[in-house]
Amino acid sequence: MNQHTRFNLPICLAVEEDAFFHSDEIIGRYIPEMIGQKTLIVSEPFLIGLYREKIEDISHDFGGAEIYPMENASYEQAVAIAKKVSMEEVKVIIGIGGGRVLDTAKYAAHISKTVYICMPTSLSNDSLASPFSVLEMEGKTRRTLSCKIPTAIIVDTNMITTAPIGQTLSGIGDTIAKHTALYDWKLSAQKTNSRVEDFAYALARMSYDSVYHCDEKDMNSRVFIRILSRALVMGGLAMEIAGSSRPCSGSEHLFAHAIEEYYPELKISHGMAVAMGSIPACIFQGQSPDGLMQFFRTYGLQVDPRSYGITEEMFADIWEKARTVRPGRITILSETPHDPARLREIYQRMVEA
Ligand SMILES: [Zn+2]
Repeated sequence: MNQHTRFNLPICLAVEEDAFFHSDEIIGRYIPEMIGQKTLIVSEPFLIGLYREKIEDISHDFGGAEIYPMENASYEQAVAIAKKVSMEEVKVIIGIGGGRVLDTAKYAAHISKTVYICMPTSLSNDSLASPFSVLEMEGKTRRTLSCKIPTAIIVDTNMITTAPIGQTLSGIGDTIAKHTALYDWKLSAQKTNSRVEDFAYALARMSYDSVYHCDEKDMNSRVFIRILSRALVMGGLAMEIAGSSRPCSGSEHLFAHAIEEYYPELKISHGMAVAMGSIPACIFQGQSPDGLMQFFRTYGLQVDPRSYGITEEMFADIWEKARTVRPGRITILSETPHDPARLREIYQRMVEA
């Protein structure tokens, strides 16, 4: 198999205090040819209301860019934006928002071949710089589609500190999930007689290490926000280099996908679900989950399934369904027989912790 696939890296990764107030200067420094080009800002109505001043300021800095309020995070919405952009000869799309906005804007930029500038208002998962967009399809199911990574990523650390704490916790969960994801990636490589992409592996490992071993325990501090932003971006780049989501997504993600597909009414954020999944995944892998549990406690990230409305029966059912949500993906689940009694024990252990 040819491992020397081509990959892209963003030209600009700026993680600065008040970066949104001088985003035009930042872009001017990195990609001056984009200044003065017709630009479209994509966001969500409630965010446009919440951050009106900042978004209007950015619009002004980018030549009076139109502010487009997207209706949903669907494939159709991304196509509609791409169509508008092509018809109106827009050259740059700026996405301002959380994962929904960023995934939709990223995909719209990908299919319309425009420059994409990613400006997150929260750090809820590692799709910031990943080569994938998760979009709603007709019938409400969600699909993960390949796309080009952003040309520029601008993180305003002040902005992130004002985001709801649950979003940052979700970003922490998605980063810590790399621990079990990387184990599963190695296992899969062994079973299929292929190999992991060393550089992608190292990047994802460093992403995890930088947050897991971080001395700063105040997750609203600028230091922590900077570390988490870079960790999430490095996770995205690891996926770009690997050409797959494997460095960041293993059995703990299968657990999260099973919740999303079979128990959507639970409405657990992606990062929280994978954090919860990482504890049993660790145990299946023969690793001690104590370190992760201690880490989650330190930051106040809840992994007690009860607190999300997951009963013992549902917990066992979700793990059973996790085996089938991504056919062909080899993880520790492929090696672990479904054992409801053992799952009950793990559930109790998570409740008691
Ligand atoms: Zn994830």
